[in-house]
Amino acid sequence: MSTFYITTPIYYTNAEPHAGHAYTTIAADVLARYHRLKGDDVFFLTGVDEHGENIQKIADQKNISPQAYCDQIASTFTTLWERLNVSYDIFLRTTSELHKSGVRKLLNTLYKTGDIYKGKYEGYYCRPCERFFTEKEQGTNRICPIHNLPLEWVEEDNYFFALSKYQDPLIKHIHENPEFIQPESRRNEMLNVLESGLEDVSISRSSVSWGIPLPFDTEHISYVWIEALSNYVTALDYAQDGEKFRKFWPADVHLMAKDIARFHALIWPAMLMAVKLPVPKKVVAHGFLTKDGEALSKTLGIFIDMDTDIGTYGLDAFRYYLLREFSFGNDGDYRPSRLDARYNADLANDLGNLLNRTLGLVSKNFGGIPEPTTAGEFDAEIQQMAREMVEKVDALMDQLVFDMALETIWEFVRRINRYIQQTQVWALAKSEETKGRMGTILYNSMEALRVVAVLISPFMPNTANRIRQQLGLDESFNDQGLDTVAEWGGLPSGLVLGKPEPIFPRKDTKKSKRTSKGRPAQAEQPADDNLISFDQFQELDLRVAEVIAAEKVPNADRLLKLQVDLGSEKRQVVAGIAAHYAPEDLIGKQIILVANLQPAKIRGIESQGMLLAAEGGKELAVATFERRMPSGAQVR
Ligand SMILES: [Zn+2]
Repeated sequence: MSTFYITTPIYYTNAEPHAGHAYTTIAADVLARYHRLKGDDVFFLTGVDEHGENIQKIADQKNISPQAYCDQIASTFTTLWERLNVSYDIFLRTTSELHKSGVRKLLNTLYKTGDIYKGKYEGYYCRPCERFFTEKEQGTNRICPIHNLPLEWVEEDNYFFALSKYQDPLIKHIHENPEFIQPESRRNEMLNVLESGLEDVSISRSSVSWGIPLPFDTEHISYVWIEALSNYVTALDYAQDGEKFRKFWPADVHLMAKDIARFHALIWPAMLMAVKLPVPKKVVAHGFLTKDGEALSKTLGIFIDMDTDIGTYGLDAFRYYLLREFSFGNDGDYRPSRLDARYNADLANDLGNLLNRTLGLVSKNFGGIPEPTTAGEFDAEIQQMAREMVEKVDALMDQLVFDMALETIWEFVRRINRYIQQTQVWALAKSEETKGRMGTILYNSMEALRVVAVLISPFMPNTANRIRQQLGLDESFNDQGLDTVAEWGGLPSGLVLGKPEPIFPRKDTKKSKRTSKGRPAQAEQPADDNLISFDQFQELDLRVAEVIAAEKVPNADRLLKLQVDLGSEKRQVVAGIAAHYAPEDLIGKQIILVANLQPAKIRGIESQGMLLAAEGGKELAVATFERRMPSGAQVR
């Protein structure tokens, strides 16, 4: 069995948790759950970093002991993780004996290598950061870029770690292991830091008391950063060379926000190299979140209101939005209006409706899950798409490309919705002859939902279980792994359906803005009936589609029948453009397709979407792109 060890940073207890912590931790949770789904033996670490001058200071101000203060903050973290359904295996506290004994062992080992020496540190220091700034980092005006405070000149007797010795080994390691630091931009940044030269780092403080004394000189306290980084091994019982340490080290993924990448990608691996331990396999730094375009700021009161958004849309929608909306390595702009749009389009409309419709037709026409007796058009295509989806999602999850993994699953969900439309399955109930085909289509739709439930379970564990429960699958199916979706047909027939219930009831945010008397509240801005809201616009699913075939519709002068490629699927569109385009003129062109339009029959031919064109006077021109785009790409 493969092992998978994933970590978040241990968060500093100088403040209560916020959405930034939630973002990292939910992403780590998704990965941990995904690897459990693959059958890996997973160890998922999160925790808190409790030592250092800042903590001592806050506790002094509150007139309580630092330990009592840390106990309070630590519990706000564990409460939040429980609320966000975070499935960690250990919540490491740096005040625990497990950690302290591990730190002592690591520092002693480091000391024996000769890479630690005593020296005088003179330098510019930021107290809130608890670190010295090198000359290159200071800039000309010596202001901490994070805290916007002037750096202080500090002189101290310190112990140092000979980090500079590891400059070349680190460069070599990064070049030999292209996946070591992700994303690429962060990797380049770290290489730049390395190439401009590493300075040795101090690893102790003599003026601080709240921390772990150096085992070889107890007059000095371990520098909080060096001590905190050690948590990734101490949590595995490194002190006793425990079973977990032997099993899980080196970590598969250290996950963090980009501001602390330097500690994880340079200092920590150098420490490990010094004590001859393997370095982590991947260090992945994600971007920062902003809120409606503004940087989060406690002082300015700009924050992500998790309570309100989870209260309105539910936890799973919040988790979905965080990982679907943003490309993980880049900064992301959190917008409640986008969460609302995603909720209504992806969750309520695409997934919720598919489940509802399918269950409704099954319960109306069959006793339980029907048997797939009568294969027909599109079945093979869908089964192949399911197989390809599982492989593609796996590759994307391996690369931590969460947004595209979810998009891949949703392409499949939308395809199944169209399968129901294309086969007009509801009409097959009319005769006993077509009932077998109807049962097969519904079986396939339910099997598709079972597959989707498995794949979304790391992102939305509760939703996955609710889908399974409504399909009539008992709790034993909740543990179904990725191997159960590799082959089509794992859904047993004959099961009685569970109670149908909308998994994502539609949110009409306009309706919910009511006064206490039940009348709609006045909008903050005067409404103009001719304007649509951004959300209304967002409901349109516009896609790049390539025309792969075109022909005239017999006995209809105006109509062309087009086959278009949307990347994940092909569609047939009937368009009234025959007077302006010969069929062969269109082949190879990329057009804009309204992809979520209800299918319609035009002269008896099904049209699955609409293309955009401009009309002026007698002229008509189909909208195209000024350069080639991937088929299926969204148009906004
Ligand atoms: Zn600072």
